[in-house]
Amino acid sequence: MHPGVLHRRFLNDLSTSLFSFVLPLLPTSEELNVKEEVRGLIEKLIKTLEPSARLLSFGSSCNSFGLRNSDMDLVVLIDDPNATIEPGNFVESMASLLERETNFNVKPLPRARIPILKLELAPSPALPFGIACDIGIENRLAIENTRLLLTYATIDPARVRTLVLFLKVWSKRRRINSPYRGTLSSYGFTLMVLYYLVHVKQPPVLPNLQRIMPMRPMEEEEVMLEGKNVYFFDDVETLRREWSSVNFESVGELLIDFFRFFSHDFQFNNSVLSLRAGQLTKESKGWVNDIDVGGLNEMARDRNRLCIEDPFEVTYNVARTVTKDGLYTIRGEFMRATRILTQRPDRAVLALAELCR
Ligand code: ATP
Ligand code: MG
Repeated sequence: MHPGVLHRRFLNDLSTSLFSFVLPLLPTSEELNVKEEVRGLIEKLIKTLEPSARLLSFGSSCNSFGLRNSDMDLVVLIDDPNATIEPGNFVESMASLLERETNFNVKPLPRARIPILKLELAPSPALPFGIACDIGIENRLAIENTRLLLTYATIDPARVRTLVLFLKVWSKRRRINSPYRGTLSSYGFTLMVLYYLVHVKQPPVLPNLQRIMPMRPMEEEEVMLEGKNVYFFDDVETLRREWSSVNFESVGELLIDFFRFFSHDFQFNNSVLSLRAGQLTKESKGWVNDIDVGGLNEMARDRNRLCIEDPFEVTYNVARTVTKDGLYTIRGEFMRATRILTQRPDRAVLALAELCR
């Protein structure tokens, strides 16, 4: 058979295999219900401390990139402007309350840079993997970036969700999804995929939601929150009606090209990935590699090896946890993935298994 035909057949096979790969890894509706119940229960308790408090989910439990048994990310928002709440103290009060009233294993981190409360529920028959959850205070930007990610996913769920979910599983199995160990968070990998679909692919698979302006000219295009412009075009109905990509590449083709781009083309040494603005230079952002950090440790020196600008908090490098070794490992994994997928393996399903080994 002609090599072109074989290749086409492999790509079709790869796309089908990617869908079947991620499908069984999605959370069950039972799991989602239990988590929602837990959220509601904790919210009720927290309201006894501060009646105007609400408890919201963010991160993968509501950006549509959630995997089965993933952690819950929760945030307390206080609506009463007259309530005087110091985050560290509130974390401590929540900890003693939840310790008293629930079976959760409670671990407060009130003096961390961002004070949080960690909760764990031991595994049970209904929840074979238990529940792990982090509760933060007043982190409203996290709610907004969760909504941004969800809106991107909604535009083209078949391709966007499949790619992100696969990348998350792959990065976890290959152990390059550990910000505490010098590699990148899921949020960072997700931003890389979206950057690629908005700014690298020509024609783009996704529009830049932070650049589409509302149809109504009167509407304010800057929406400020904590001093940050959190505007993005979030009118999903209009997007569905009026935006359609003329890029028809399959999810398999996009995956291979994603790995190829980050193996060979992206200039990690001097470039910044910005979902908001495309490729920027480290120099223009003042994010240079070997900043003089005096006597500080290796982590600080490594802060800007991989640079991913947060969509709203633009002075913040989401990938600041990635060390020199971490970046070396991540790039090695991109190359390994490219190799596995382009050496014309027979069966896509075997290639995916090998990829995530
Ligand atoms: P997982 O299923 O692996 O937990 P996730 O989609 O919940 O994946 P996380 O990396 O846990 O992704 O991030 C959850 C949320 O926390 C993100 O939506 C973002 O709001 C915030 N977040 C995580 N990491 C960072 C970071 N490095 N900088 C800023 N915000 C972050
Ligand atoms: Mg999470």
